[in-house]
Formats: sequence, C-alpha cells, structure tokens
Amino acid sequence: MRRLRCTKIIATLGPASSDPDVIEALHRAGADVFRLNFSHGEHADHQSRVETIRALEEKTGRPIGILADLQGPKIRLGTFEGGAAMLKNGARFRLDLEEAAGDETRVSLPHPQVLESLEAGSILLLDDGKLQLTVEKAGKDFADCKVTVGGRISDRKGVNIPNAVVRMSPLTDKDRRDLDFALSLGVDWVALSFVQRPEDIAEVKKIAAGRAAVMAKIEKPAAVEALDGIIELADAVMVARGDLGVEMPIQRVPSIQKHIIACAREAGKPVVVATQMLESMIAAPVPTRAEVTDVANAIYDGTDAVMLSAESAAGKFPIEAVSMMSDIAEVTEKDPAYRKAIDAKHGHLEATTADAISAAAAQVAHTIGAATIVTYTTSGSTALRAARERGETAVLVLTPVLKTARTLALVWGLHCVHTRDAENFADMVNKACKISFAEGFARPGERVVIMAGVPFGTPGSTNILRIAWVGEQ
Ligand code: PEP
Repeated sequence: MRRLRCTKIIATLGPASSDPDVIEALHRAGADVFRLNFSHGEHADHQSRVETIRALEEKTGRPIGILADLQGPKIRLGTFEGGAAMLKNGARFRLDLEEAAGDETRVSLPHPQVLESLEAGSILLLDDGKLQLTVEKAGKDFADCKVTVGGRISDRKGVNIPNAVVRMSPLTDKDRRDLDFALSLGVDWVALSFVQRPEDIAEVKKIAAGRAAVMAKIEKPAAVEALDGIIELADAVMVARGDLGVEMPIQRVPSIQKHIIACAREAGKPVVVATQMLESMIAAPVPTRAEVTDVANAIYDGTDAVMLSAESAAGKFPIEAVSMMSDIAEVTEKDPAYRKAIDAKHGHLEATTADAISAAAAQVAHTIGAATIVTYTTSGSTALRAARERGETAVLVLTPVLKTARTLALVWGLHCVHTRDAENFADMVNKACKISFAEGFARPGERVVIMAGVPFGTPGSTNILRIAWVGEQ
C-alpha cells in the first residue's frame, strides 16, 4: 500500500469512526496515524480502537502510528444556578473557590493555582473566547474582574488565560491515569496539551521512558515564546490551532503556524498542523475552497502531517474527509511550485555523519535518477534526518524495530517496512533491492541508493552509501 504523497495524514477516532470497517476504510483512504483523543471517551473505547488498529496492521502488513492526545490542564468554570448566567458588559464579576453555584455576580473557578497566578490586568477568555474578563484585583483565593466582553455563560465552560504562565503541572491526575493507560496499550506517540515550558515535556518524557515518543501541542503564547527549547526536548510538535486561536489574536495563527513549521523543519523534528482543516466536512461531503487552500498551504510549507479532528471523529463523512486530504496532498505535491517552496527552506546541515550521508543520498539519487533511497534504521534517528532533506526521491525505511516503523508513520515521505536487520553487505543490498521491488518503489533495471551502518545492527552507526541495481525478482 504505497502512498502517492509525502505528507502524512492523522485521523482522530471517535463515535463516527470506531467500527473496524470504518477504521480500515480510513486507513485505505489515506490515514497513516490514528489519534485517540483522551478529552473524550472511556478507556475501554480507546482500548478497542487500539486492538482494531493492531489487527488491521496484521491484515495489511503496514505499520500504523497511534497518537494518544492527553487532555492537559484545561481550566473550567464551576456551575451556575439554573445552568447559566448573563454577564453584562462593564459589570463586576468575581471568580472564587466557593463550591456554591454561581450567578451574574460570581462563579467558582476550582483551580487554586490559577487564581494564584492572576494579577491586575490579567485577561480571562471564557467559552472559546466568546466572553472576556479583565482582572482588577486578585488575591490568593479570588479574582475580582470587570466584564470586558459580556454574554451568556453556562456550566463548566473552558477558560483561557493567554497572558499568564499558570503555575500548574502539565499533567492533571486524569492525564497521569490516561498516560499510564495509553502506554500500557503500546501507543507510539503521546501528545501533551497546553505545554508552557520545555520542563513540561521533560516531565512526560520521564514517565514515558522511551515507551512512546512525545509531541508538544503548541497552543499557548508561553509555548510560542519558548518554542526553541520545546522543540529541542520534544520528539515532535503540533500546531494546535483550536486553542492557539483563542489564546492568541486569531489573525496571528497563520504566521505562528509558518514559524512553527519552519523551526521544526530546521530542527528535523516532525510537525503536525491541526484543527478545522476540513471543518465543513463534519456536515458536508465536500469542503470549502478556503479549507482546501488551507490544507495545501500547510503542505507547501513542508509540514510532516495534517490532522483531522471532529471531521473523522464525529462527522458525517470521515472517509471522504481523509480521501479529500489525500487528494489535496497528491495534487499539491505535483505542483512544480511545491518543489521550489520546499527546496527554498532546506535546513542547514549539522556536522554529523547522519546529515552528511542523508544529504549525499538525496543528491546522488537526484543525479542518477534513482528509483528510491533505502535507509536502514533501528532507533529511527537516521530516517528522521533523511526526511529532513525533503528530497525528491522517495525514502524507504527498513527497520527491525516495529515501534520505530509505527512511530515514523507520522514523518514526511517515509515508507516504513518492518524487517530483520541486514546480516552482511550482500544481504544489505539484496534486501534493499527485494523490498524496493516488493513495495512498488523500484523495478528491475532501476537503481536504488542505500544508506546503512557498519557494524550492522549497531544503532547510530550510519556510515555507508551504496548504489545498487535492482535485478529481475
Ligand atoms: C487544538 O486545540 O487545536 C487541538 C488539537 O487540541 P484539542 O483538540 O484537544 O482541543
């Protein structure tokens, strides 16, 4: 099942896409990675989706990535008498720790650390930014606010505090339970929501201890400011445009998206663009022109993956949404302007053997018109550097570690095959040619460029570049 595009597709699973037949159809239509959204659903739901995906892998022989997205410290209001209240522009409104139901003068904000982080001038956005409060006076257990944008507010609506670093652990108790559970299911990626500082990533990486790669969701101004440090520690980043568009002025989302993609590409860390990519397909079988252009623009910038949320989790047309994304990627990547845009933002090479060999492989493959580049990898790090090249020649990854193949399913241009390691030089060449042919990457009489490391089976030893002819198979 060779994809005819380099950009990968992540599809979120939910009530509209939990049936094994639908999950298979999503994968065949183009989903390379499935996202389990731990903001919704029970553990049993996620477990059964994981079991379905792993059974599908057995059936198709293709490694599939699984991303567990943790809810993170989402801040929510308490409840109101009668379920809702009207906040008038200019009125005074108190947030406190009282348990009593709220009204138009006060409500509970049951997060002591949040109240402690507020000061006069702090802005609070309620219900995805529909209402706005400005703090006038803050104490240890209260904040007196002025309603700067009023409206109707109801029970447990979300609160965003864009201009404050809230002294909260990046993992709530629920996140810790979800993380343990996701790791026990053997997910390949864990995404952390509302990351504020590089240390937040360090905490999750410590718990994951190599069992899953860690993705930082960039959705807070503090994370945008600390981007370099976060990218350095995280294994990947997500442009989480939903909350980002609430926490930051919405008109800044496009430039921040481009900045995050550029920084991640430079660092050679995978980057995902997420949220509202084909939003109208939740209810309609075709997207808007603006949505198609939005997906294509992320692809022109060289994102590793584009993501579907409610479109595939709860929409009426999950399979059509994945097919549409796949079609957009195929067509965009054939545009000569795509190659120009990708090459214009080629990253600087680091003084490492992996970068030297990756760049040389792309150059050699281009010069001789090789059918494919084959890279042997154990940890996946060499394959990531090969992907960072964003070269014209398809990259086939051979790895003895199934987890590596699944994890790399998210990465631009990598087609991963789980196979035993090469035993010697002849085996390395034979295997590369055989699998290139079997996977539809090369025909007899074509050449392949092979990257590998000697001694064979030693992680981090990439030091060989070999050109081989594919013989009759
Ligand atoms: C987002 O905010 O864009 C996002 C992907 O996170 P969630 O779906 O958890 O809100």
